[in-house]
Amino acid sequence: MIVIGGGLAGMAAAEQAVRAGATTAVVCKGRIGEVGVRGSGASGCGATEAGVPAFFRMLDKSFDAHDFHDRIIDAGLGMVSREMVSLFVEEFVRMRPEAAEIMGSYGAGCSATLGTPLIHRSLGFVREHAKILEGTRAVRLVSDSEVCSGVICVDETSGVAFELCGKAVVLAAGGDAHLFSVNVHPQCVCGDGYALGLKAGAAAINLEFMQMFTMTTAPTRNLIHFWQERFLADLRNADGKEFLAGYLPENITVEQCIRENVLHAPFSVRDEASRYLAIAIVEEIKAGRGTDSGGVYVDLRECADFRGTRQDKFLRERAIDASAAPVEVSVGFQCCNGGLLVNTRMETTVAGLYAAGENAGGLHGADRLGGNMLAGCIISGRIAGREAAGHVPRRSPIKPLRFERQGSDGTENELSQAYGPLFTEIRRSAWENLLVVKSERSIEMFRDRLEQVRQRSRAMAVDSGGMPAELENLLVVGEVLAETSLERRESRGGFYREDYPNAIQAAPEAHIVTLSEDGRVLLRKETLDPQWNPDSRDGLGNVRWG
Ligand SMILES: Cc1cc2nc3c(=O)[nH]c(=O)nc-3n(C[C@H](O)[C@H](O)[C@H](O)COP(=O)(O)OP(=O)(O)OC[C@H]3O[C@@H](n4cnc5c(N)ncnc54)[C@H](O)[C@@H]3O)c2cc1C
Repeated sequence: MIVIGGGLAGMAAAEQAVRAGATTAVVCKGRIGEVGVRGSGASGCGATEAGVPAFFRMLDKSFDAHDFHDRIIDAGLGMVSREMVSLFVEEFVRMRPEAAEIMGSYGAGCSATLGTPLIHRSLGFVREHAKILEGTRAVRLVSDSEVCSGVICVDETSGVAFELCGKAVVLAAGGDAHLFSVNVHPQCVCGDGYALGLKAGAAAINLEFMQMFTMTTAPTRNLIHFWQERFLADLRNADGKEFLAGYLPENITVEQCIRENVLHAPFSVRDEASRYLAIAIVEEIKAGRGTDSGGVYVDLRECADFRGTRQDKFLRERAIDASAAPVEVSVGFQCCNGGLLVNTRMETTVAGLYAAGENAGGLHGADRLGGNMLAGCIISGRIAGREAAGHVPRRSPIKPLRFERQGSDGTENELSQAYGPLFTEIRRSAWENLLVVKSERSIEMFRDRLEQVRQRSRAMAVDSGGMPAELENLLVVGEVLAETSLERRESRGGFYREDYPNAIQAAPEAHIVTLSEDGRVLLRKETLDPQWNPDSRDGLGNVRWG
């Protein structure tokens, strides 16, 4: 059994697979379990003030599983699978004793970095009992669209390619953060999982729903969470001018915008006013009034309440002293709410191929509750590992259909040097046109850029013997996001179309994506949550949920 990815979901899957008796291999870019390095994935990034404690909400005396279930559905705005939510809440509640034990042994340590302490719980066991191939990229699944039975890998140092065969594969390769120039992830998280799955014939869902958050831009990039209104009282562009008011409609005040934003920190259009903070920041930067690092200034020097908090300490450790100078911030990608389409066994539409963590879709919808990604990674990872370990192939493992050595899929250095500028172009355009503020025009602009990069990289690949798999994957995921975003003519949760700012379809349909044999994006629409009622009260109206 093969697990692709060494983040929280990958480690959970590998541990369960081993415990279920499967001979297990883990393939991972970079090194597993070291914060911030290639390989640690999103799971090894810093937490915010709210995130990790939210994971432990189950330990509160007031925790109510029914209410939690309903809030996830409220957050999803019609774009979640109720079957998946029920499974998640059931498993979440079952984890209570374990969560209490984790809290007891790590306590505040869990807040310093996100999933790292949790990864380390599995890592020791996995290192002992499974084969771990670090510094190894999975570049293709061995699949005939119906059955998956292995992975083609490339050693990142030598550039040598080889094939791993297994009865089943778990994709836990994280989200598509590095499609966007502004994000807080290690570079390894660049949509490989989605592209590998789609190219192997699997379907994906909800990929256009992403979570965006404020993040620092210099000297290091970190999430920054403004959980009090006064923290956002002094927001200026690079010229020192306040700009938020200039982006607000007449009926909305700066105070209202900030008040709502404090409650709903990730970007969302579910309420009237909070969206304008992120819109204003992004538009101001796009208009050329940002700082050299691509940010605007938030001045926290007079905010005594910020001083000494976990967030303040976390930023100081990363060379940002909010009491000494205004902090430079932008809005960027935090995580993807969608993923590959899976059933409750985490099985994708291709037999033998499972997905977990940010690679699995259906649990999170248009918005998601803070902390649930982390819990979802553990839960989906464990299920995927257990189920994949017990998977009996319908037929004997297939041989790779086409496997030629890809000349340019070389070492890490070769990749970034030769093709670096093309990656940069896609990422910049995706951040500008496909993340916070989208419109038909902006999506078409992104598509044009994608096409230009595709043509240029194909021309380069003639000499180098093939396009790097990471670039090819970015082109696939970029195209899927462009197509699904274009087709969604509405604004819903974290998905905002400037040309349909207030429209929300009464009967929402999810986009189920597959690729045709020649790589075109095929869309099928499906109602995911027929019980969702757009007229019902928004249960998240006045509560903190981000
Ligand atoms: C700064 C930050 C704060 C966050 N805060 C919260 C929070 O408070 N609460 C919450 O619930 N969620 C939060 N999230 C989201 C959450 O952390 C992620 O969704 C989650 O950690 C994803 O875990 P994963 O195991 O699916 O993927 P990741 O942890 O991203 O791991 C992906 C793994 O796959 C490997 N990989 C990728 N491609 C390949 C390939 N081709 N071949 C081999 N290996 C590959 C990578 O090297 C990595 O090891 C946050 C994310 C960030 C970045």
